[in-house]
Amino acid sequence: MDYKNKIPWFERDKDIFKKTSNHHAYIFEGPKGIGKNLFTLEVAKGFLCTAKPNIEICNECKSCHLFDESNHPDFYPIKTIEDKKQISINQIREIQEPLYESSFMGSKKVFLINPLEKLTREAFDSFLKNLEEPPSNSVFLLVSHRYQTLPLTIKSRCIQISMLIPEKKQIEIWLENQTKHKEKIESAILFSKGKPLVAAEMINLEVNVTRKDFIKDISELIKTGNNLLQISEKWPKDNDSMLLKLEWMSDLLMDCIRHKFLTEGQETFQDTDNISSYLSEKVETDTFFSLLEKTNSFWSLFNSETNLRVDYQLQALLVEWTESVGLTR
Ligand SMILES: [Zn+2]
Repeated sequence: MDYKNKIPWFERDKDIFKKTSNHHAYIFEGPKGIGKNLFTLEVAKGFLCTAKPNIEICNECKSCHLFDESNHPDFYPIKTIEDKKQISINQIREIQEPLYESSFMGSKKVFLINPLEKLTREAFDSFLKNLEEPPSNSVFLLVSHRYQTLPLTIKSRCIQISMLIPEKKQIEIWLENQTKHKEKIESAILFSKGKPLVAAEMINLEVNVTRKDFIKDISELIKTGNNLLQISEKWPKDNDSMLLKLEWMSDLLMDCIRHKFLTEGQETFQDTDNISSYLSEKVETDTFFSLLEKTNSFWSLFNSETNLRVDYQLQALLVEWTESVGLTR
């Protein structure tokens, strides 16, 4: 699947952005999987296009061609290096020279950091100096999935562009244009919690493996609790799917509560319906609410704290689950 197709849902953000495009630093923030990086690349290309003003793209000038070939001399993408979890101070040092030189193509120089929260403390300190004394003709495009964790000193010097989960209709149209598996679109949107790039990946994964794994793990946890340690080790290995699984845990509890008060037309997740309807008969409503609160606070903690001992915290949450809704409790 090729997601290089233009993404339609941030057009409004682009308009807001155009009005402020004389500033030197922007943070594009929002949940992971909604296309922030694709959008930011488009903005970068727009800044560099030498034929059109206002971050518009002509797709014909030399600059646009070089950008498409990932070969633009004035574009500096900075990301986590493979095998490393963070963006090091050395990577920030490497841009110091080009930052204060003139551009090759006569337009701006664009520095794209993604994701910004991965900078080490030293890297942040060094980068802050660049933001305090912005070199002329340079623009910083900064992507963040965890805006709340960024240092205030950094945030206060950047324009914040909040990117939201697009409307369902827009995701549907976008996905329909890129997949033959139309029958998978509906469930992919549901399980991805409305994050289009995650949905696209799920469609790609034949049937969605992550969801199946989740149901298998959580059923076993509720039935026997025997896999508690195994889950606490396995899930944190993939941050993105872990976030999704936590959201599904909340969904499952919400479904249990819905079953208690079920009226016509209320929707529950069909593939976990046997679990949620069974639990709703066995467990008190208050227990679901209290477990839901704990699950949601863990999600928030995990989403905002990058240095958390995740396996340990997850294990504590799973113990709560087995003690509250486990069948062997
Ligand atoms: Zn151009």
